[in-house]
Amino acid sequence: MDDESPNDAQFLTPSDKELLNTELKITSTAEFGTLDRPEGLPAKFRRIVVRYDETPKGGKKAGHNPHLDCAFQCHAKHWRGFIVELEGEQLVRVGKDCGHKHLGADFQRGMNAYSALETRKFELRRLLALRSEFPAAVSALKSAVASANVAAFDRYLAVLRREFAPMSRELADSVRRSSGRLMAAKRVRDGEREEASARMVDAREARANGTMSRWKSITEAPTPAIRERAVRAWKNFVSSQPPAYKIEYVDVGSCDGWKLLDPKQAPPPSSLLSAALLKADEVASQLLRRRSDEWQSARIVQLKKDVREVLDAWAKALASMRVIDQFTGEANIAAIASWAQQTEKDAAGIGQNVIASGRAIADLDSASKLELPVGFEVPTARAMERIDEILNRKFELWDSGP
Ligand SMILES: [Zn+2]
Repeated sequence: MDDESPNDAQFLTPSDKELLNTELKITSTAEFGTLDRPEGLPAKFRRIVVRYDETPKGGKKAGHNPHLDCAFQCHAKHWRGFIVELEGEQLVRVGKDCGHKHLGADFQRGMNAYSALETRKFELRRLLALRSEFPAAVSALKSAVASANVAAFDRYLAVLRREFAPMSRELADSVRRSSGRLMAAKRVRDGEREEASARMVDAREARANGTMSRWKSITEAPTPAIRERAVRAWKNFVSSQPPAYKIEYVDVGSCDGWKLLDPKQAPPPSSLLSAALLKADEVASQLLRRRSDEWQSARIVQLKKDVREVLDAWAKALASMRVIDQFTGEANIAAIASWAQQTEKDAAGIGQNVIASGRAIADLDSASKLELPVGFEVPTARAMERIDEILNRKFELWDSGP
């Protein structure tokens, strides 16, 4: 840490420090004594002293707890409410609803101001937590950017596209069309088309020669024996015509991690993480440089947006790393190789002689072999999880004590 970065003590202005040390919600009002409103004292609001919550453990079901009296004798339970100072320095107990009813707009303003203090205190605590966790998140990003695992991702895809080009192109098309199924294209004879085109040739020849077509000879045969001969002649004619083919698809299984091949996928982990690191560095320097009074709501909103951006990029990078891990699973590579062996394109296969060998895929013709390095793993970082938790912490769930 450089010398100009304020530590927590320097980070907090005196008033923010005082706010952090102030209890804004107490769980017992016993110290305030009876809190009765003397008869005849006008109900004129001055300020909220403190919010209290005396809800017994077990919440609302614990109906045996005594109700607490309020300044206006309204008979509600008043387990939660405010200690309010009225004109004349008299302290009384007031609930939210009866405060509105009897103390009017002044009470609403007082409550708004009190909520603003609570929010400010809550955000200060969030800032302190971010300040203490963020350096670890930056280090985690730095080591992820430099990690062999992340480099292995880029290398794998590059080799797949370069050295297994015909296969990877065909595979990408195929799994995209079928949303992740390995559909092997099989070239099979198309009897219907062969028959139809033979009929056309037959009719054309009959017209040119002024004879009866072979087809018509069947339908107009006067005896079964003649008909049988005509059918044989027709079959011979059809098989003498050039063959026609069609493609049939055979489902070889599902392809795990097929989204890896989707060009619309997120950028590779290396670029996501580099961008996240850049943003995180900027956030870290702001967190260290700025004093608490420089963190007002607009800047806090921007900070949260920036931190969210870092976390999103991290999450996306990890997701891609998980996808490549699935894609290169042993059973998946075996299924892909089986698909590649069965797939026919035009008159031939896909142009590569591919086999699976454990988690590796190999091309027997070119001797290319591709696999993730041994020990490949998806990075993890506790710091990122903690930052995520701090960012998403809800006011209600964060004890508002000092
Ligand atoms: Zn009341």
